[in-house]
Amino acid sequence: MKYDVKKLTLEEKLSMLTGMDGWHTSTANGKVRGVSVADGPNGLRKVDPDRTTRKATSMPALSLVTNSWDRALAYLDGETIAADCADNDVDVLLAPGVNIKRTPLCGRNFEYFSEDPFLAGTMAREYIRGVQDCGVGTSLKHFCANNREKGRITQTSEVDERTLHEIYLKPFEMALEADPWTVMCSYNPLNGAYVSESKKMLSGVLRGQLGYKGLIMSDWGAVRNPYKSIKATLDLIMPYNKNTVENVKDALDKGFITIEEIDFCVKNVLSLAEKAENAEKTARYTPQERHENAVRIAEGGMVLLKNEENVLPLSGGKNYLVCGKLAKEPTTVGGGSAKVQTAYEQRPLYDLLAEKLPKATFEAYLRPGKIFNNPDRVELQFVREGYEKAYGKDAVIICVEGECESEGYDRNFIRLLPEYEEFIKNAARYNKNVIVVVFAGSAVDMSAWIDDVKAVVLAGLAGEGANEALSAILAGEVNPSGKLAETFVWDLDDTYTGDDTGDGFTERYDDGVFVGYRYYDKYDIDVLFPFGHGLSYANFRYDNLTVEKKGVTDFTVSFDVTNTSSVDGAEVSQVYVRDIYSMVSRPDKELQGFAKTFVKAGETKRVSVELDDRSFAYYSTELDRWYVESGPFEILVGASSRDIRLCGKAEIDLPDEEQLSK
Ligand code: BGC
Repeated sequence: MKYDVKKLTLEEKLSMLTGMDGWHTSTANGKVRGVSVADGPNGLRKVDPDRTTRKATSMPALSLVTNSWDRALAYLDGETIAADCADNDVDVLLAPGVNIKRTPLCGRNFEYFSEDPFLAGTMAREYIRGVQDCGVGTSLKHFCANNREKGRITQTSEVDERTLHEIYLKPFEMALEADPWTVMCSYNPLNGAYVSESKKMLSGVLRGQLGYKGLIMSDWGAVRNPYKSIKATLDLIMPYNKNTVENVKDALDKGFITIEEIDFCVKNVLSLAEKAENAEKTARYTPQERHENAVRIAEGGMVLLKNEENVLPLSGGKNYLVCGKLAKEPTTVGGGSAKVQTAYEQRPLYDLLAEKLPKATFEAYLRPGKIFNNPDRVELQFVREGYEKAYGKDAVIICVEGECESEGYDRNFIRLLPEYEEFIKNAARYNKNVIVVVFAGSAVDMSAWIDDVKAVVLAGLAGEGANEALSAILAGEVNPSGKLAETFVWDLDDTYTGDDTGDGFTERYDDGVFVGYRYYDKYDIDVLFPFGHGLSYANFRYDNLTVEKKGVTDFTVSFDVTNTSSVDGAEVSQVYVRDIYSMVSRPDKELQGFAKTFVKAGETKRVSVELDDRSFAYYSTELDRWYVESGPFEILVGASSRDIRLCGKAEIDLPDEEQLSK
């Protein structure tokens, strides 16, 4: 190691424990290289000292990236953002966040991957590799059990041990395989202690059980009592906090903390500086290519939720009405630290469509307006003329958005605003082919109008390539292949949490491991669109399942996917595992593998997915580790969590002496 902790004075050591400012680590009087950090996750948000934010490529939100179920796109996303980091001299990107989407109300769901830990962990791992292979570090955040914005700084998440490991820690554990340079702790207390001060969580679980060797930093302003955090092995208190030096020095003088404990953290900051110094930051893509990547990822992640009578794709020789101001200026990003400023100006959806389908006409009607942050809501009373325009058109495309999504607060409801719902319903009275495009980073309740419309496309929060990707999908240039990484319920009341957001002090996670589809499955709750659902312009058939045993707990699951249509397309196949007999209560099924396969029209491809011991294990609180029970398991292969096409069996027979009470 180039930097030696022994060469630093005590004051210099203490200065290393906090930032130099908001976005750099300390240089210890110029002895150490400062490391620059900037947000993530859907593009670079670098704030300069004069508080201006640099322009960067606005990539799709992680919620949309995950809907692609495409590992290569998650990697590409990371690589593309790293290129902006390289150009702007950023050493560490403060992303990605792998917090589980426990409630659709969470304001930051657009920044997160999924309600499912396996999917979240798999995609996060690829994203981190994409960034770090370009010589830029990442910060895996927010560790952990921060699943809503309301009360994020004060409200204790009370989570039982098994649930913590199986649901909330698992995506971290999987993402750690990509060796992120840093991990960021969350704001919230967990089971009675702030995570930023929790020896058990930081030193015990993250460094011990999960084997993390890198630097742990605080979320911005998350530390209340610096010396307690340092004792818990939180290495870096961000941003600069003048209280840190005094507080830790005082604790050292009083014998509350040892110099060894301080050195441990300082060494980790020094190793980070060294990593940054040795890394060769490379921009693998030109700015133009970065934009093209943003479009490509958005195309892969948009989800065709409904398409009756094949109203989509649009076709030549027809007359369409495109409604809503969002058709001109789509909502492409959520608020807060993830808000990227792009220099790119999107072209209106209707212009792009007219270019792609020159034989069709696209009339634009820019109402309803952008409802959120629009002081001029009165304009909504003029929408009546829109219905008249809708009459006689071959189809009407209506662009709408969900309630504003942002860091710092949660959504209050998951329906669209009444103005949007009313417009959709009325338009459907004048035209039987209504196609709704939804811009949202989280689940939306569509119950008020879903039966009135022919098609729905979830355009997500798609970044600067939104309209290009959307027009390519609507025009049939790109065959949609995204599937939902979270369940869309009929009603907020169908979720376990409903509108209960905790009492401001504590929130008990009494749903246990039954989060997302695990909950709807257990209680047999009908949902609007299940986890894993998404349509294509092609149709796929599944056949010939084999479950081949490779080792005691290792299996290869193989099956054929046939494209029975006349268009090429990609299919996301999901492999779920069901424990048939268990000594603990387990979900009905859990995602343990998936594959996205491009299949040409009329062709068949053989798809294989590997399962290992962790695919069958639960977290045993008796053993304090993951544990597999011998016995039969069902292997379910599906096009969604509620569209299981093939079913097979895996039999596990572990030595009796290694088994708990069986
Ligand atoms: C957010 C982090 C972010 C940090 C720096 C915090 O408020 O929770 O996700 O990285 O600010 O902007």
